[in-house]
Amino acid sequence: MGLLTEGSPLSWAETKSQAEHVRQHGVIQFINLYKRLRDRQGDILKWGDEVEYIIVKFDHEKKIAKLSLRSHEILAILNEKELADPQGVKSLWRPEYGGYMIEGTPGKPYGGLLAHFNIVEANMKYRREEVTQLLQPGEVILSMTNFPRLGCEDFTDPVTKPTPDEGATRSFFFPDDAIFPHPRFKNLSRNIRERRGEKVCINLPVYRDVNTEIPVDDSYLRSKAAKPDRVYLDAMGFGMGCCCLQLTFQACNIREARTLYDQLTPLCPIMLALTAASPIYRGFLTDVDCRWNIISGSVDCRTEEERGLKPLKENKFVINKSRYDSIDSYLSESGEKYNDVPLVYDKAIYEKLRANDIDHLLAQHIAHLFIRDTVSLFSERINQDDEHDTDHFENIQSTNWQTMRFKPPPPNSTIGWRVEFRPCEAQITDFENAAIVCFVVLLTRVILSYQLNFIIPISKVDENMQNAQKRGANLNQTFWFRKDITTQISPPEANECCKKGYANCCDAFEPMTINQIINGKVGEFPGLIPLINNYLSGMDVDTDTHCTIQQYLKFIQHRASGEILTTASWLRKFVTSHPEYKQDSKVTERINYDLLSTIHKIQKGEVSCPELLGHTTTSKTKESIPTALYKESLRLERE
Ligand code: GLU
Ligand code: MG
Repeated sequence: MGLLTEGSPLSWAETKSQAEHVRQHGVIQFINLYKRLRDRQGDILKWGDEVEYIIVKFDHEKKIAKLSLRSHEILAILNEKELADPQGVKSLWRPEYGGYMIEGTPGKPYGGLLAHFNIVEANMKYRREEVTQLLQPGEVILSMTNFPRLGCEDFTDPVTKPTPDEGATRSFFFPDDAIFPHPRFKNLSRNIRERRGEKVCINLPVYRDVNTEIPVDDSYLRSKAAKPDRVYLDAMGFGMGCCCLQLTFQACNIREARTLYDQLTPLCPIMLALTAASPIYRGFLTDVDCRWNIISGSVDCRTEEERGLKPLKENKFVINKSRYDSIDSYLSESGEKYNDVPLVYDKAIYEKLRANDIDHLLAQHIAHLFIRDTVSLFSERINQDDEHDTDHFENIQSTNWQTMRFKPPPPNSTIGWRVEFRPCEAQITDFENAAIVCFVVLLTRVILSYQLNFIIPISKVDENMQNAQKRGANLNQTFWFRKDITTQISPPEANECCKKGYANCCDAFEPMTINQIINGKVGEFPGLIPLINNYLSGMDVDTDTHCTIQQYLKFIQHRASGEILTTASWLRKFVTSHPEYKQDSKVTERINYDLLSTIHKIQKGEVSCPELLGHTTTSKTKESIPTALYKESLRLERE
């Protein structure tokens, strides 16, 4: 989830007093790096996936599943391995917010060769196996978006207790001791709470079954912030303790990175709905299928003034979103006229960037990110060499957790301009995660080769983001989507009304179901999978890779059409058909145990689950790709 710095974290008061310093120097650092790297050309298309996992500990006798707080021990061993052979390791491991979480990526990025799609799943399996070897009896690693009983009594192993009256989080439910032990994470939690002026607060609609009791529990007696008919969550850990599946792409230059950033933006809500995997929070079935708004609320450091609840006095801006949310403006020329939501940005920073020859769109993007204060600062890092360091820039950049992230090359490295694709939820099996990764990567190829245009007004993307999280959205909701994605130039009437700042009248886009978007609408919309297949038909690919890709695409197709369930729907179904379920929305210890043991078996392939996976076979590839092939792949197929 970002930069890990060694050293001593500052208190919130100290951090606050340095906020302007970090902002000013962060901007200078960006200007310097931009000057150095704006014309960087010829990087090749590379990409990689990131999967976040949880470590679960089963007590098979008592039939209980808890979160094991051993990720720091496991990570220490994995990082030692990396240190001993940085070039040779097949995987890289990083900490995440939860003391029970761990994040894994392939050791090297993948390149432009289609054969790489055949090793994604093998690498994911390798990663799982690698961690599994370090686990203790009863422990398993799961790629599950949210642990269903996170925040319920004694949900960790060893048992930890919440400390509502002291510490970083002050949650009624989420103990500080469940946070990963690196000081950054606790520090972030405390600073976000102190900056906001109160604990974070999320009130989720409970899924109302026939016996669901309202109030759902006694939270509303303990806190004014809790609503009786809602599942109340009051800690950063409820959000940042969730897992996701992310992708990073390296573009050949800054221009291509800006295009990818914009073109992938309207796909974020679509992929969120398609990968929905988290309907259960703090032991309750809820009416949402995704983690997104929960994380957003869990790091919402805006003060009352910034949230528009009080007139501005101490703060500079009323800000309409949390620092974790969907993006607020496009970066490419084709996106410019679709920036229809007034952007909140720091005018002085904007002017400074403009004065340094940074164009309007990029300047407003950076000036928008920099409306935020630093929420984590280490004393050793205050004074920096702005010519070469980028820590202050990264400080703000890496705590703007948006659906897409536009990333400049790191200092002194061979890495180019990149974008991150961040909406997807983690899926249970490596097969599913690999399928989603390959689908999105193939989409980027199709977008760039066919110069497709998916851009719709930002306000419509925002609307789609909200719809994507509703229960059953994958099948039941519609999403604004561009009707003609093959036009480079949008119809003139669309241009006119979008220029005026409202887009409702545009007929360039219309509501579509996920099925129509993915599989097409006869005579009207081609569908993303048919487009990908069309693209692939012109490519040379070995039979094995071809079969793997087709399995993945079939899976995406079936998930979009509803032939197979989303993870969220499957989880709901498992809970509601469990013999112990009392139609009261509650996910008990025993249901949780049975659910997680079943998930573990599905993931290992010990039980088949056609409802979730269809009738697919997983990729058989075990070996990593031969070096010669790897080198060849580093040439772009587009070249
Ligand atoms: N776990 C967060 C999520 O589910 C992402 C944290 C990160 O940026 O790595 O979106
Ligand atoms: Mg992460």
